[in-house]
Amino acid sequence: MNAPLPAEVLKQHVIDPEICIRCNTCEETCPIDAITHDANNYVVDPDICNGCMACVPPCPTGAIDNWRLVARAEAHSVHDQLGWEELPQEQAPPVAAGAEAAVAEPAAPQPAAAAPGAAVPPWSAAHPYVNLYTHKTPMTATVVGNYRVTGTDTDSDIHHIVLDFGELPFPVLEGQSIGILPPGLDAQGRPHHARQYSLASPRDGERAGYNNLSLTVKRVTEDHAGAAAHGVCSNYLCDLVKNDKVQVIGPFGHTFLMPNHPGANLIMICTGTGSAPMRAMTERCRRRIESGENGKLMLFFGARTERELPYFGPLMKLPPDFIDINLALSREAGQPKRYVQDLIRDRAAKVLELLADRNTCIYVCGLKGMETGVLDALRDVTVQSGQDWSILHDALRREGRLHFETY
Ligand code: NAP
Repeated sequence: MNAPLPAEVLKQHVIDPEICIRCNTCEETCPIDAITHDANNYVVDPDICNGCMACVPPCPTGAIDNWRLVARAEAHSVHDQLGWEELPQEQAPPVAAGAEAAVAEPAAPQPAAAAPGAAVPPWSAAHPYVNLYTHKTPMTATVVGNYRVTGTDTDSDIHHIVLDFGELPFPVLEGQSIGILPPGLDAQGRPHHARQYSLASPRDGERAGYNNLSLTVKRVTEDHAGAAAHGVCSNYLCDLVKNDKVQVIGPFGHTFLMPNHPGANLIMICTGTGSAPMRAMTERCRRRIESGENGKLMLFFGARTERELPYFGPLMKLPPDFIDINLALSREAGQPKRYVQDLIRDRAAKVLELLADRNTCIYVCGLKGMETGVLDALRDVTVQSGQDWSILHDALRREGRLHFETY
């Protein structure tokens, strides 16, 4: 057993800037605000971090799981870490006066009390591969398709982009994501950081049996406040043409994965481009309809209008006995404003039936704002049926049956 560290020695939590994809998950997860960032890096404040490990399981890349044994008085400052291009070399453990320095294991990973979703995958999820290609060793993919999946008469320019990996292996699972390295330099003259996109295709390829995958990318032309803004990577991707080359890293993600056992049910809740992983999972199930392995599929999908809802045409062609589709349109002329959480309440009976089945997994992806709304709706339907939401919520998290990916 490892002895506790002497008080003068710190097992300092640090983030690997070469693997980090700046997705903000750690900063959002940290229950005590020990993680911060600037335009360059995400870093851990040694004066605040208590090693609770809440941020470690949700990190899609594992960049967060790095530690350096340092003399407490010489801990790497936030300022120093913000300037790092790579992690400093491991040093020999500092020996405190009168004590042998020993390496204490970090605490066991615990989901933060406030984390809404699970820190573990469903028990039957397939094994995901992560970080096969990194910033230092990216993979070059070839664009084999790029087309718009929203009405051309709308402002919402969402593209379905297909990347092919040729002969090189790029094994992925539904729910995983990849990083794209946009060409060029940022305002500080450094190469742009990777941008993360969820896969929209299933594990066996956008075209079954081909070594390719697809992404769902919305061209960013304004910021969250509505001011004009040029999204570096989204515009780069949406403007790509066939045969262009793209630098890719990843894959990432080891928890937002679909169950692999026959009869598993999926409740999928998404807005806009958050539909990417839902398309991947739905397509995985569609391709095995004949096998009889599928459980029930229920989809809640929010968009402003039908014309702005990506994949509307193909989605509506899916047989109703295969997937129960519920569209929440917020700005359709002549219709009341609906959000996904409104429809969850409308469909309480079916949602409750699925929630009562331990073979059901729930996936939520899209706008950050819907996280609370969806949780409230799930709580309301549960409480109205006389059940204790906190007990069910804990079970869903513990059993890897409730997953969030929101931005
Ligand atoms: P959007 O068009 O801005 O919104 C989609 C719908 O969600 C609209 O009907 C909107 O209604 C509604 N909405 C707004 N606030 C809501 C709330 N609090 N609760 C429930 N619904 C709400 O969506 P988007 O621009 O496509 O954005 C999708 C998000 O998914 C982005 O944040 C993106 O980063 C994220 N995402 C993308 C990927 C990917 O691979 N591309 C993967 C994961 C996540 P109103 O606007 O009418 O209020």
